[in-house]
Amino acid sequence: MMNQSTKGIHTCPICRYDGNDIYSDTGESGDSVAFDCPRCGKYNITGTANTMVQYEKWQKSLPFLSSWTRERNEYYGEVPTVDSYRIKLESNLHRQISEEDSIVRVLKYINHKTKSPGKTVLIVDHYDFPIVNGGDEDAFRYYMKYLVRVGYVTYCDDGELGDAWAYCVRLEIDGRDKLREFKSSAVVKCARTPWDSVNQALDAAHTNLHLGESTSYFQNCAHSCRESLVKLAGEIYDESKHGAFQPDKSSYSNALTKIELVVGELLVGGKKKEERSMAKAAISLANKFAHAEVVGRTQALNCYSSVKAVVEIVNNSFGRKP
Ligand SMILES: [Zn+2]
Repeated sequence: MMNQSTKGIHTCPICRYDGNDIYSDTGESGDSVAFDCPRCGKYNITGTANTMVQYEKWQKSLPFLSSWTRERNEYYGEVPTVDSYRIKLESNLHRQISEEDSIVRVLKYINHKTKSPGKTVLIVDHYDFPIVNGGDEDAFRYYMKYLVRVGYVTYCDDGELGDAWAYCVRLEIDGRDKLREFKSSAVVKCARTPWDSVNQALDAAHTNLHLGESTSYFQNCAHSCRESLVKLAGEIYDESKHGAFQPDKSSYSNALTKIELVVGELLVGGKKKEERSMAKAAISLANKFAHAEVVGRTQALNCYSSVKAVVEIVNNSFGRKP
């Protein structure tokens, strides 16, 4: 497929950067257009999405879109496609972005660009700010200053680079330690269960939790967590044994009700009161993530932990003598 490249000044529809180095050509579908932006990276945008981004309604999601495309480029070597679904998703998310998350993002980027320990990395605030999720130049500079102040990063040299100010930084051992500490804060995998369908869904949740700092991975994790409980309910619930109930519209809330009925039967009696309330609390926490948009690492971790607790408590008691 031949692409028609149009050289010249173009404007990135996501971040509005314009320059010679952005090219625009027709994508393989004929409808999409390809861009190579120094901020957003390489991406394709569909005709519909390209129209949407011009409207006021979608403006607030553009910085997050820019972070998303840049991240796909930097860490996954992908050229993502921005379509109407992605714009709506970025716009509808209720975000809880922590300072810790932003600091780790900048550290991770410097580490990613470091060719070998002690080597410096070229940073251009004007181009690199999408590294901070939804950030701007000020936010990026703010976190960079912090990293220098606490000694995670050393400022080495600076100078002009075309129309922007560039500088070199070096990741220090303390900075690497901070990244390692962040990575090791991940939760331990759920214990194996006798149910393959549950194991598979839990594995998918755990994998997504550790793929990287991306909203889409965290959402996939939450989706697989819900799937795990739906599968668990299918494996353990027996209407004749655990009792009938009035089904809800959602298969997820039905699954939680089934699990609750099973837990009531498994952990019956005064001696198991505490186990029963622990299981109920875990089910209630899992329920919290039924309709919530999981966008942050902490939310995804808690979603996995609550589902893990439900599965493990059921597994510990199921099919065993009291
Ligand atoms: Zn851009």
